[in-house]
Amino acid sequence: MAYKFKCVDCGDVSYSAAPLELQKFPRCEKCGGRILRVQPPMKLGEILIALGMMSSKDLKRALEVQSGMTERLVLGKLLVKLNLIGMSEVERALQIQREMMSGSHTQ
Ligand SMILES: [Zn+2]
Repeated sequence: MAYKFKCVDCGDVSYSAAPLELQKFPRCEKCGGRILRVQPPMKLGEILIALGMMSSKDLKRALEVQSGMTERLVLGKLLVKLNLIGMSEVERALQIQREMMSGSHTQ
């Protein structure tokens, strides 16, 4: 199965037989923008890392905290609570996630 990718900035769609490595996202050939995986869909944490908003180390730490909670917070809120990122960054990532999955991003 091919993986599907999309540029955050220009909406250019591309396919690849191999997944992208989280730490080494290539840039869009057309506009130089960030490329995210659309299929299979990325999780919020993956998007935050891909956009350079947080490190994979911070995400791992947050997921550990989350798994130890009796009443689990959604990841976005937990990251803000741990002061790893700001609320505006979470909202931006969630917006990108919605746009990528709905396919309504400007072409
Ligand atoms: Zn682009």
